[in-house]
Amino acid sequence: MIRIIHQRAKCIGCNYCVEAAPSRWIMDDNDGKCNLIGAKEKRGIFIAITTDDEYDENLEAAEICPVNIIKVEKV
Ligand code: SF4
Repeated sequence: MIRIIHQRAKCIGCNYCVEAAPSRWIMDDNDGKCNLIGAKEKRGIFIAITTDDEYDENLEAAEICPVNIIKVEKV
């Protein structure tokens, strides 16, 4: 399993994560930031747990994010 972590408040809405992992990220038209699909919020941090097959594309999202607010961990 993997854990994906998103510090959403700092998102600048560049859309890169959506391009890297479109099944897990989506832009939010309401505020121009992205949403981590399936995530639960804990004190402003959004966390999703999912399967290893999503690791590579979400690692790419983490690496490409210009403000470095995505983390991906094996759990
Ligand atoms: S890549 Fe980073 S800054 Fe860009 S939309 Fe995704 S989380 Fe936000």
